[in-house]
Amino acid sequence: MSAVDLLRQEICEYGRRAVELGLVLGTSGNLSARDGDLVAVTPAGVALDRLTPEMCPVVDVEGHLVEGDLQPSSETPMHLAIYDSTAARAVVHTHSVFGTVVATTMTELPPVHYNALLLGGAVKVAEYATYGTPELAANIRAAMEGRQAALMANHGGVTIGATMEQAFEAARLLEWLCEVYVRGLSVGKPVVLTDEQLAAVVERSLNPPTFPRRPR
Ligand SMILES: [Zn+2]
Repeated sequence: MSAVDLLRQEICEYGRRAVELGLVLGTSGNLSARDGDLVAVTPAGVALDRLTPEMCPVVDVEGHLVEGDLQPSSETPMHLAIYDSTAARAVVHTHSVFGTVVATTMTELPPVHYNALLLGGAVKVAEYATYGTPELAANIRAAMEGRQAALMANHGGVTIGATMEQAFEAARLLEWLCEVYVRGLSVGKPVVLTDEQLAAVVERSLNPPTFPRRPR
């Protein structure tokens, strides 16, 4: 099986998980994975839990359809813009509830938990533009700079990774961080971690504690 066919299979597998976990609804949301100058992507108009590998179109990085009978997702320009400006090998776009709540009410998700560092710290909300347009792709590209995630105003979230698994886990983490923040607001004012506290987390992760073996 070719590398790109393996990616098409992976897209189906993670598409099903995205529906199961409630990250997407109906035909909303889309996934893609890159191999060289080819990108396998979810097709337009098919629910992510009904996909088969053959249904997933393959486009080149310039957006020409290379393989498949169905049209690529309307958000394919955004996926291609991200591949153009990052080293990502996979992109996950969802309309998850808490991510969308933050994206409709805020300009940035502040880091209230140190795991936000896994996404690059505060998550920016890309300015609103109509879905599928080059303008939206450009706004996301800007919001994503130096990060693994961005939110899209009044729309949803997008995450990237070196593999589909990484991009998918980033999507789950983004949703979790948004949920913590939104639920936090119902209890009080969420406390945002300072730059100093975040730097200390990075320092700690670079120097994990070691546990010497007990002498026999
Ligand atoms: Zn969307």
